Amino acid sequence: MLIDSHTHLDHCKEDAADLIREASAAGVAVIIQSGIDLASSRYSVDVAEKYPGVFATVGFHPQEAGNLDDEQMAGIEELTVNPRVVGVGETGFDFFHDRWPHEEQEDVFVRHMDLARRAGLPVVIHTREAEERTLSLLAEHAVDLTVILHCFSLPHRLEEVVARGYYLSFAGNVTYKNAPDLQAAALAVPADLLLLETDAPWLTPVPLRGRPNRPALVSHVYDFVAGLRGLTVDELAVQVEANVCRAFPRLAGQLRGS
Ligand SMILES: [Zn+2]
Repeated sequence: MLIDSHTHLDHCKEDAADLIREASAAGVAVIIQSGIDLASSRYSVDVAEKYPGVFATVGFHPQEAGNLDDEQMAGIEELTVNPRVVGVGETGFDFFHDRWPHEEQEDVFVRHMDLARRAGLPVVIHTREAEERTLSLLAEHAVDLTVILHCFSLPHRLEEVVARGYYLSFAGNVTYKNAPDLQAAALAVPADLLLLETDAPWLTPVPLRGRPNRPALVSHVYDFVAGLRGLTVDELAVQVEANVCRAFPRLAGQLRGS
């Protein structure tokens, strides 16, 4: 079984039903659909309630941070009691798009970590051009949380994030020719901290780079990383599934129950 541990069905052009069917035909039995604001978090829960292989995370992306008010935060918190919600996020810092003051992004990030703690859920992190501040805020606020670094982009901090026990989720950009550092990290990461994702519709893996991404294409990320690590795709799939189950215990409970 292949797992796309981070995707955005609501940003893909095709119908979610078609994307989920296509993924399932490609052996992708589990998809974690990530919310980026209240509306998309609600959408994520709806789609996760409709399809047994789809699970949701809920939260405000740092690019949406400034749109969050108390009422919406309460809405996100309400969603976390839904059994189909398996994580809080994506949250973090984005100093590349830099849409909101850093203080504001930090406040929203901290609120998500506090929510993850109350909800007993892992926190899914987006970080872009904000390496130092992300790692120091996590050190301060996430010591007791399960942390997933989605679309892993900190190969130079590998030792540090591995020592902290964070899960590293590699996206399609690990397959790119110009990403030797990311590839070295995907080879060096301990087997029990490795996750794979599409982040669709972005970051389409080779050989389809340039076309819109979709959950079915996580199979190319598996092919590539299996090759790097000298494993068969089946061996890698077994390892990644065990990691997803450990990182997202609520998902594991339902996978085993289904
Ligand atoms: Zn995302």
